[in-house]
Amino acid sequence: MKKKVLVIEDEKAILQGLLDNLNEEGFEAIGESLGKNGMETALREDIDIILLDLMLPDMNGLDICKEIKKQKIALPIIMITTKSGESDKILGLELGADDYITKPFSINEVLARVRAVLRRFEIHDKVKHQKLENYT
Ligand code: CA
Repeated sequence: MKKKVLVIEDEKAILQGLLDNLNEEGFEAIGESLGKNGMETALREDIDIILLDLMLPDMNGLDICKEIKKQKIALPIIMITTKSGESDKILGLELGADDYITKPFSINEVLARVRAVLRRFEIHDKVKHQKLENYT
């Protein structure tokens, strides 16, 4: 089954580029350009991973990240940021982001990070299930 990627990004060219490349690489990618809509889609749909821009016109990416994680802790989020300052990274990780991509990025880096984070979460999931099986 295809992994569903939600991209929340307000810069249209970047959003379209990410969606095209993710779809070409076998993901099912959907896009939102506003934070509010993105958050609603994230919570409503069965999404496997989110690429979330830090700077959105209506909401701060960190607030969106925090809110989504509050309701869906096991949904991985990769933040897209133009800042590479350490304090932003630490703040983002404290709020629950699972990885970072700094603009400008290469599509290969994005794909590699998406796959790595998904792998990490799948392994985590399997371990959880194994533990549960052991107890029954
Ligand atoms: Ca932006």
